[in-house]
Amino acid sequence: MKASNRALEILQKTYGYPNFRGRQAEIIEHVIAGNNAFVLMPTGGGKSLCYQIPALCREGVGIIVSPLIALMQDQVDALKQLGINASAINSSMSIESVRETKNAIRNGTIDLVYVAPERVLMEDFIELLQQSPIALFAIDEAHCVSQWGHDFRPHYTQLSELADKFPNIPRIALTATADTPTRKDIVERLQLTNGRTFIAGFDRPNIHYSIVVKDSPKQQILRFIKENHANESGIVYCLSRKMTDEIAEWLCEQGFKALPYHAGLTAEVRAENQRRFLREDSVIMVATIAFGMGIDKPDVRFVAHLSIPKNIEAYYQETGRAGRDGLPSNALMVYGMSDAAMQRNFIEGSDAPLQQKRIEHQKLNALLGLCEAASCRRQIILEYFGDHSGPCNNCDTCLAPPETFDGTIAAQKALSAVYRTEQRFGVNYLIELLLGKSDERMQRFGHDRLGVFGVGKEYNKNEWQSIFRQLVAANLLEVDITEHGGLKFTPQGHAFLKEKQTIRLRKALPGKVKAELKTRKVQLEENVDQPLFAALKAIRMEIAKAQNVPPYVIFHDKTLREMAVSKPASREEFGHISGVGEKKSARYGDIFLNVITQHETLVA
Ligand code: ADP
Ligand code: ZN
Repeated sequence: MKASNRALEILQKTYGYPNFRGRQAEIIEHVIAGNNAFVLMPTGGGKSLCYQIPALCREGVGIIVSPLIALMQDQVDALKQLGINASAINSSMSIESVRETKNAIRNGTIDLVYVAPERVLMEDFIELLQQSPIALFAIDEAHCVSQWGHDFRPHYTQLSELADKFPNIPRIALTATADTPTRKDIVERLQLTNGRTFIAGFDRPNIHYSIVVKDSPKQQILRFIKENHANESGIVYCLSRKMTDEIAEWLCEQGFKALPYHAGLTAEVRAENQRRFLREDSVIMVATIAFGMGIDKPDVRFVAHLSIPKNIEAYYQETGRAGRDGLPSNALMVYGMSDAAMQRNFIEGSDAPLQQKRIEHQKLNALLGLCEAASCRRQIILEYFGDHSGPCNNCDTCLAPPETFDGTIAAQKALSAVYRTEQRFGVNYLIELLLGKSDERMQRFGHDRLGVFGVGKEYNKNEWQSIFRQLVAANLLEVDITEHGGLKFTPQGHAFLKEKQTIRLRKALPGKVKAELKTRKVQLEENVDQPLFAALKAIRMEIAKAQNVPPYVIFHDKTLREMAVSKPASREEFGHISGVGEKKSARYGDIFLNVITQHETLVA
């Protein structure tokens, strides 16, 4: 049988999916043939199959290196449900279980083994691997190898040893996040230069993007959840631990099941909260960015940012945790300039070299540009990753295009205010100056006698704030960190005045009106029989609890939905549903068919 036929057969029989997605087939064939690969795919793009299926097709055991110890067991459980023989080796496993797994590796009686990076490189483990039949090495979350990436793990750099010690075994490195320098870095460090790089399209069309100005974050998030996601799972990202605790507590008071997650909580509490998020229905995780890597819960329906993230990459990675199942999902960001200042302080406070700090500031500017954009959000994001596309019609600016105006004169006035006060003052001071509101300090500096004093009365404070934000986003002005956050010119700012350039700006949202949250309500397919869907979810929960696994390990929501639409009446029909493989059909077919039949007779 041709390798690709075998791969397709596994996809259909074991996983229960009819076709490969995107570049999966190509990648799988390449690795089955024994070649190295570097795979860049967005979160939810389907990376796991790219190493799982080749490992099943090739002789020997697939070794998967992953930094996500806490999630290994769930991954192993999910594979076991499919009838795949898998196991994990990490510090949380018993000695007995590690010994068993090692024996299985030696005898080649196991398909896939997940291992923490520090384990893989231990001398005795390398020896074991050298004496065992190995199908491939998969290096998951490969960006951890790069210092440019945002999640550097020193152990990962040593993984280059695998190339020297196992020259004949294919290695496949996978990540969802990497800009061009990071990509190069990963390929070099993991010695994948002789392999192929597969870059999948970065688009996640099922996620609706919307970005609004921060006004009252509590009310904004409450409205967003109430109106769009009343009984659904989601993640709310906050910048500080304090805010994380506050928002979680407040959402609980409002009747939601919200849990906090941040580095200030004990490891036990964090593990428990993560467990509940994965296993219970409609839990909202309120978290710092400490939460989320490797979370493969497929039915996270929204990701909201109550503070701006670090940069577009981090944002895309974080929002990518929504809607892995491909169903409509929402990403909302609520942003304000004070968050940007906080992010700048983080960058300055770090002990990264100057050059790195500069890059970080530029990346942050690109993010602010996204926030202030009057054009399609997705287009800007995809452009950032080097993908070109047209307007998406599934983001806030596409669905409700913001009004723009000729901002040339406003920009000239704002820049002039910055220039005349010697590029040392922050936004609020500059706005007071433009509005002609003098105080003791302004008088002391003699700024109330400047020509720009009071020349900006045609806009109010809120409008000026928006104008300044956009000038920063357009890279005409920048925040000077060393000078207490004063605004100063960039070279482009000088050029703007000198060359008499023009600029169009986005109209500010009026002050107190709650920033528009026109996120589209997640549309459930109309013909889903909702009571039946609920009944199917209930039986799934019962089964999951009895086996102590997350419910989505049994079946995804998407699979249950399909059952609630097509209402299979026989095992044969049941087996045709996407996500129902042979093993699951045999194991659960009758139970679910029974629920469907009962429901149908009740209704009839
Ligand atoms: P990633 O690791 O890239 O974030 P996963 O490998 O977890 O993504 O896959 C995302 C989801 O898509 C999973 O729920 C997976 O079962 C599903 N999936 C992957 N490949 C296919 C396919 N060919 N057909 C249908 N569903 C798929
Ligand atoms: Zn759009």
